[in-house]
Amino acid sequence: MNLNWLHNIVQFITKDTGDENESPKLIVVMRIVAMSMLLYVTISCLIYINIINPIIIMLLLASFIAFMSIVVMTYRAKTKTVVYAINICMVVWSAATLYICGWDVGVQQFITVILVLCFFSSYGKYKLKICYAIFLCAFRIFLYFLCRTSPSALVLNENLSYILQILNSITIFWCISVIAYIFGKSSRDLDHKLVAYNTKLEDQANTDALTGLYNRRKGMSYMHEIIDSNKHNSISLCICDIDFFKKVNDNYGHDIGDIVLKQLAQTMKNTLKDTSFIARWGGEEFLIVFPSYNGDESYVLLETLQNDIKAMEFQAGETSFKITMTFGLAEYDFNSSLDNNLKEADEKLYMGKENGRDQIVY
Ligand code: GH3
Ligand code: MG
Ligand code: MG
Repeated sequence: MNLNWLHNIVQFITKDTGDENESPKLIVVMRIVAMSMLLYVTISCLIYINIINPIIIMLLLASFIAFMSIVVMTYRAKTKTVVYAINICMVVWSAATLYICGWDVGVQQFITVILVLCFFSSYGKYKLKICYAIFLCAFRIFLYFLCRTSPSALVLNENLSYILQILNSITIFWCISVIAYIFGKSSRDLDHKLVAYNTKLEDQANTDALTGLYNRRKGMSYMHEIIDSNKHNSISLCICDIDFFKKVNDNYGHDIGDIVLKQLAQTMKNTLKDTSFIARWGGEEFLIVFPSYNGDESYVLLETLQNDIKAMEFQAGETSFKITMTFGLAEYDFNSSLDNNLKEADEKLYMGKENGRDQIVY
């Protein structure tokens, strides 16, 4: 089925003013309200067709021209101008219609539509909006007494009243639903964007930009988390460091050094998978936490990692080279502090360096 026509109508209704400083939502909402009012007036013409009364004809004609002008304005004028125009038009139109046709015509309910529009639109300060709401309420009461005290120019018969009540209800519900849906949707979208943005910010704050691993900050908070959770019988900590990494930089350049760090991080992730938590602890130093693994089990995992790293080959132009790492491993002692446990892993790393590097000290 070809739905091009539907697409074109939607595009026509939702067409933006093109002005970057204008709110596209508000203009579209006001356009839909004005179009709905135009349709309402057109249907009213058919309802009143049997009543050939010059005042009614004038009222319908004036209403049609007024709402048509607002529809046109939504494509050409500034949002602020349309806001004023639609409010003035609705207020004057409802007052005139009630005055001419009497309270039973029911258009006083349309005041609710502008009240809702006023609170959802971003124009005007809240104080002003509250004053406007009070004005609309007073205006509605005033119209009631005006209609009750002065006889209307037209007496509606019962059938006409019924039809108008149905038409009013449909139009008002439609207008309020459109306003609430469009503004409600944009606020939900904004909420989702904020949540996504916060998550992204948090990820960035916890991630090391070069390697994509967690950073030291996240490493510390992770360790506090798992220790405080009391969920793990044994935890192992490892601090490891690339051997003679300065030489890599000196011989092949800093950029190649960066590539080594990135590829090494990837190998660590691939080899250890979800057995552990890995963070970049410092320049070429990494923290590996094995929650739920004792020292012996962690040692076996580290041996696999050590071999995988040794098997890696790095490219610097024509030359290829390899690296090794030294690991200091400590099983977490719950009777001691986190700092002391980290210190133990660090001391073991230092011992490994002293004893010739490329080894796991446990
Ligand atoms: P050792 O075996 O004793 O650890 O020797 P080493 O050369 O690895 O140790 P040293 O602490 O002397 O040198 C570490 C080097 O790591 C020095 C520093 O320039 C380099 N480095 C630290 N962070 C980065 C980085 O982000 N990128 C690159 N390319 N190099 C880094
Ligand atoms: Mg080093
Ligand atoms: Mg180092």
